[in-house]
Amino acid sequence: MKIIIERQRCIGCGSCSALCPNYFELDTLGHSHFKNSAVSEETETDEFEVESLGCIQEAIDACPVQCIKIV
Ligand code: SF4
Repeated sequence: MKIIIERQRCIGCGSCSALCPNYFELDTLGHSHFKNSAVSEETETDEFEVESLGCIQEAIDACPVQCIKIV
């Protein structure tokens, strides 16, 4: 399944990277992105394919602006 982060809506609270640090980290402007993805600061959406959700579900549930989605 594909997971996306709508980076322009991210408020940089850090919940996703705290709960699921193997997948999420904050960039230098404080927007979340998937670890090791090649997004630039201006990239509006980051996406990642996963076999199972694991801690990603916790990050989705914890995001205060619901900008992490399963598509
Ligand atoms: S939990 Fe949501 S708002 Fe907070 S850093 Fe992660 S993506 Fe951004």
